[in-house]
Amino acid sequence: MRTAFIGMVGLLGMMGCAPAPGTTYSVVIDPAFSAEDIALAQQATQAWVVATDGVLNMWNVSVGTCTAANGNRNVAETCIHRVSDMQALALGAEPGFVGFTIWSEDSADVYMPSMADAGLSPAQLEETLQHELGHSFHLLHEAEKTALMYPSMQPQIQTISCGDLAQFYAIRGIQWLGNAGCPGGGTYTIDSER
Ligand SMILES: [Zn+2]
Repeated sequence: MRTAFIGMVGLLGMMGCAPAPGTTYSVVIDPAFSAEDIALAQQATQAWVVATDGVLNMWNVSVGTCTAANGNRNVAETCIHRVSDMQALALGAEPGFVGFTIWSEDSADVYMPSMADAGLSPAQLEETLQHELGHSFHLLHEAEKTALMYPSMQPQIQTISCGDLAQFYAIRGIQWLGNAGCPGGGTYTIDSER
Protein backbone atom coordinates (compact mmCIF):
# COMPACT_ATOMS: atom_id res chain seq x y z
CA MET A 1 0.00 0.00 0.00
CA ARG A 2 1.14 3.51 -0.64
CA THR A 3 1.91 5.86 2.16
CA ALA A 4 2.26 8.94 0.08
CA PHE A 5 0.48 12.23 0.00
CA ILE A 6 -3.17 12.16 -0.57
CA GLY A 7 -3.15 15.02 -3.01
CA MET A 8 -1.56 17.97 -4.64
CA VAL A 9 -3.13 21.36 -4.63
CA GLY A 10 -3.83 23.33 -7.74
CA LEU A 11 -3.75 27.00 -6.96
CA LEU A 12 -5.05 28.28 -10.26
CA GLY A 13 -7.82 30.72 -9.66
CA MET A 14 -6.99 31.17 -6.01
CA MET A 15 -4.91 34.28 -6.53
CA GLY A 16 -6.03 37.79 -7.29
CA CYS A 17 -9.59 38.91 -7.14
CA ALA A 18 -11.44 35.79 -8.17
CA PRO A 19 -14.98 35.69 -6.79
CA ALA A 20 -15.82 33.41 -3.89
CA PRO A 21 -16.51 29.85 -5.03
CA GLY A 22 -20.14 28.91 -5.39
CA THR A 23 -22.19 26.11 -3.90
CA THR A 24 -23.64 24.44 -7.00
CA TYR A 25 -21.58 21.73 -8.65
CA SER A 26 -21.69 19.05 -11.29
CA VAL A 27 -19.54 15.96 -10.70
CA VAL A 28 -18.69 13.85 -13.73
CA ILE A 29 -17.00 10.49 -13.21
CA ASP A 30 -14.77 8.83 -15.80
CA PRO A 31 -16.42 5.61 -17.11
CA ALA A 32 -12.93 4.03 -17.16
CA PHE A 33 -13.26 3.43 -13.41
CA SER A 34 -14.65 0.12 -12.16
CA ALA A 35 -18.27 -0.07 -11.02
CA GLU A 36 -17.07 -0.22 -7.41
CA ASP A 37 -14.81 2.84 -7.88
CA ILE A 38 -17.75 4.73 -9.43
CA ALA A 39 -20.05 3.82 -6.54
CA LEU A 40 -17.44 5.10 -4.08
CA ALA A 41 -17.08 8.35 -6.03
CA GLN A 42 -20.85 8.83 -5.87
CA GLN A 43 -20.76 8.04 -2.15
CA ALA A 44 -17.91 10.53 -1.56
CA THR A 45 -19.89 13.22 -3.37
CA GLN A 46 -22.97 12.48 -1.30
CA ALA A 47 -20.88 12.64 1.90
CA TRP A 48 -20.12 16.31 1.15
CA VAL A 49 -23.77 17.08 0.43
CA VAL A 50 -24.83 15.48 3.72
CA ALA A 51 -22.03 17.09 5.76
CA THR A 52 -22.96 20.56 4.50
CA ASP A 53 -26.66 19.98 5.18
CA GLY A 54 -27.31 20.39 1.47
CA VAL A 55 -25.70 23.84 1.23
CA LEU A 56 -23.45 22.17 -1.31
CA ASN A 57 -25.91 21.46 -4.08
CA MET A 58 -25.29 18.78 -6.69
CA TRP A 59 -26.82 19.94 -9.95
CA ASN A 60 -25.62 16.74 -11.57
CA VAL A 61 -23.67 13.61 -10.63
CA SER A 62 -23.04 11.39 -13.61
CA VAL A 63 -20.70 8.96 -15.32
CA GLY A 64 -19.47 10.14 -18.67
CA THR A 65 -17.74 12.99 -20.41
CA CYS A 66 -17.23 16.42 -18.90
CA THR A 67 -19.40 19.02 -20.53
CA ALA A 68 -18.30 22.28 -18.89
CA ALA A 69 -21.55 21.89 -16.94
CA ASN A 70 -23.57 22.17 -20.15
CA GLY A 71 -22.69 25.83 -20.46
CA ASN A 72 -24.47 26.75 -17.24
CA ARG A 73 -22.25 29.43 -15.78
CA ASN A 74 -23.79 29.07 -12.34
CA VAL A 75 -22.56 25.50 -12.04
CA ALA A 76 -18.94 24.57 -11.37
CA GLU A 77 -17.84 21.24 -12.78
CA THR A 78 -15.61 18.65 -11.14
CA CYS A 79 -14.28 15.97 -13.48
CA ILE A 80 -12.87 12.83 -11.86
CA HIS A 81 -10.41 11.17 -14.21
CA ARG A 82 -8.87 7.73 -13.91
CA VAL A 83 -5.12 7.89 -14.54
CA SER A 84 -2.20 5.50 -14.37
CA ASP A 85 0.95 6.39 -12.42
CA MET A 86 2.68 7.29 -15.68
CA GLN A 87 -0.13 9.61 -16.73
CA ALA A 88 -0.19 11.22 -13.30
CA LEU A 89 3.55 11.90 -13.37
CA ALA A 90 3.20 13.41 -16.83
CA LEU A 91 0.49 15.70 -15.46
CA GLY A 92 2.81 16.92 -12.70
CA ALA A 93 1.93 14.67 -9.77
CA GLU A 94 4.58 13.96 -7.19
CA PRO A 95 5.87 10.38 -7.21
CA GLY A 96 3.83 8.14 -4.91
CA PHE A 97 0.69 10.23 -5.31
CA VAL A 98 -2.67 8.80 -4.48
CA GLY A 99 -4.83 11.49 -6.01
CA PHE A 100 -4.42 15.11 -7.03
CA THR A 101 -6.56 17.96 -8.16
CA ILE A 102 -6.05 20.98 -10.34
CA TRP A 103 -8.75 23.58 -10.07
CA SER A 104 -9.68 26.91 -11.52
CA GLU A 105 -12.52 29.29 -10.80
CA ASP A 106 -15.36 27.21 -12.20
CA SER A 107 -13.93 23.79 -12.94
CA ALA A 108 -11.66 21.19 -11.44
CA ASP A 109 -9.91 18.07 -12.64
CA VAL A 110 -9.39 15.31 -10.09
CA TYR A 111 -6.88 12.65 -11.12
CA MET A 112 -7.16 9.31 -9.37
CA PRO A 113 -5.95 5.75 -9.76
CA SER A 114 -8.49 2.96 -9.67
CA MET A 115 -8.77 1.16 -6.35
CA ALA A 116 -7.23 -1.97 -7.88
CA ASP A 117 -4.27 -0.14 -9.45
CA ALA A 118 -3.43 1.70 -6.24
CA GLY A 119 -3.95 -1.23 -3.88
CA LEU A 120 -6.32 0.81 -1.74
CA SER A 121 -9.18 -0.45 0.40
CA PRO A 122 -12.67 0.85 -0.43
CA ALA A 123 -12.52 3.11 2.65
CA GLN A 124 -9.16 4.54 1.57
CA LEU A 125 -10.35 5.17 -1.97
CA GLU A 126 -13.44 6.95 -0.67
CA GLU A 127 -11.34 8.99 1.78
CA THR A 128 -9.05 10.04 -1.07
CA LEU A 129 -12.04 10.91 -3.25
CA GLN A 130 -13.59 12.99 -0.47
CA HIS A 131 -10.25 14.80 0.02
CA GLU A 132 -9.83 15.54 -3.69
CA LEU A 133 -13.46 16.64 -3.97
CA GLY A 134 -12.65 19.01 -1.10
CA HIS A 135 -9.91 20.55 -3.29
CA SER A 136 -12.34 20.77 -6.18
CA PHE A 137 -14.59 22.80 -3.84
CA HIS A 138 -11.52 25.05 -3.33
CA LEU A 139 -10.42 23.81 0.10
CA LEU A 140 -6.73 23.99 0.96
CA HIS A 141 -4.75 21.60 3.14
CA GLU A 142 -5.21 21.88 6.88
CA ALA A 143 -2.64 21.28 9.61
CA GLU A 144 -4.94 19.28 11.89
CA LYS A 145 -4.34 15.55 11.61
CA THR A 146 -8.02 14.85 12.25
CA ALA A 147 -9.05 16.86 9.18
CA LEU A 148 -9.99 15.25 5.91
CA MET A 149 -7.91 18.03 4.32
CA TYR A 150 -4.73 16.99 6.14
CA PRO A 151 -2.27 16.47 3.27
CA SER A 152 -1.30 12.87 3.83
CA MET A 153 -3.14 9.65 4.46
CA GLN A 154 -3.31 8.65 8.12
CA PRO A 155 -3.54 5.14 9.57
CA GLN A 156 -7.13 5.93 10.52
CA ILE A 157 -9.67 6.90 7.89
CA GLN A 158 -10.59 10.59 8.19
CA THR A 159 -13.94 12.00 7.25
CA ILE A 160 -15.16 15.57 6.76
CA SER A 161 -14.32 17.34 10.03
CA CYS A 162 -15.84 20.38 11.68
CA GLY A 163 -12.69 22.24 10.64
CA ASP A 164 -13.13 21.16 7.01
CA LEU A 165 -16.70 22.47 7.12
CA ALA A 166 -15.53 25.71 8.72
CA GLN A 167 -13.12 26.19 5.82
CA PHE A 168 -15.81 25.29 3.27
CA TYR A 169 -18.06 28.05 4.58
CA ALA A 170 -15.32 30.61 5.31
CA ILE A 171 -13.97 30.64 1.75
CA ARG A 172 -17.52 31.21 0.50
CA GLY A 173 -18.13 34.07 2.85
CA ILE A 174 -20.95 32.15 4.53
CA GLN A 175 -21.34 32.63 8.24
CA TRP A 176 -21.60 29.16 9.76
CA LEU A 177 -22.45 28.59 13.37
CA GLY A 178 -22.22 24.82 13.24
CA ASN A 179 -24.67 21.98 12.86
CA ALA A 180 -25.77 19.01 14.89
CA GLY A 181 -22.40 17.29 14.49
CA CYS A 182 -20.40 20.48 15.04
CA PRO A 183 -22.14 22.60 17.65
CA GLY A 184 -20.58 26.06 17.57
CA GLY A 185 -18.84 25.39 14.24
CA GLY A 186 -15.19 24.42 13.91
CA THR A 187 -11.69 25.74 13.57
CA TYR A 188 -8.91 24.99 11.13
CA THR A 189 -5.38 26.06 10.32
CA ILE A 190 -4.26 26.21 6.70
CA ASP A 191 -1.14 24.09 6.20
CA SER A 192 1.20 26.60 4.59
CA GLU A 193 3.88 23.98 3.91
CA ARG A 194 2.08 22.26 1.08
ZN1 LIG B 1 -4.62 17.38 -0.95
